[in-house]
Amino acid sequence: MRLLLVEDDADVAETLVLYLEKQGYVVDLAPYLATARSALDGGGFDLVLLDRGLPDGDGVSLIAYAAQRNRPQRFIVLTARASIDQRVEGLESGAEDYIAKPFEPRELLARIRSALRRTVDARRESRRFGPLLHDLESGVFFIDEQPLTLRRTEALVLEALMARPGAVVQRETLESRVYGYDKMVNANSLESQISRLRTNLARRSDRIRIQAVRGLGYCLGLED
Ligand code: CA
Repeated sequence: MRLLLVEDDADVAETLVLYLEKQGYVVDLAPYLATARSALDGGGFDLVLLDRGLPDGDGVSLIAYAAQRNRPQRFIVLTARASIDQRVEGLESGAEDYIAKPFEPRELLARIRSALRRTVDARRESRRFGPLLHDLESGVFFIDEQPLTLRRTEALVLEALMARPGAVVQRETLESRVYGYDKMVNANSLESQISRLRTNLARRSDRIRIQAVRGLGYCLGLED
């Protein structure tokens, strides 16, 4: 198993690399966002351990970066910022898990093992919501067992909505999934993606609804 550790604190990084290598993992270290991006572009990691406070930005932006590059990747966020809001933010942006500093290396090891187990399970899994099915392995959506053709950006939006059906997914979360944190997003871009997605869904089923929740975001729902 190959891990990418994104951490700028040299002492923390050294301790973790030594510990994790002793546990049999291959660990690559990236002390900057820029190095982490190049590492992710190279691919091949089973899991990424992500510090948030990096010299060149917030580590969480890598989650959107990986999603945008079509490099689905599991992340565990390591951070001292352990308030509830930031925990939710970390999970909403697609992190697998979250661990507050300071932590014991063996606590991190337990989280790593658990995340890697879920990765193996996810490879065999699909998500279903009413007539809609998302095959997590291929990334393909189906309605009533027939494949649904979507643009990549629409698929990313639907994937984020389908991860939490019935719950409001914040517009910032959707935008970061589709456009990444670094890009300026035209105020209408997300609306136009949602609008196209609604049209594509409506062509195949009149039961699936994407509801706008004013000031918050969007919610995937089902008509009876
Ligand atoms: Ca740091």
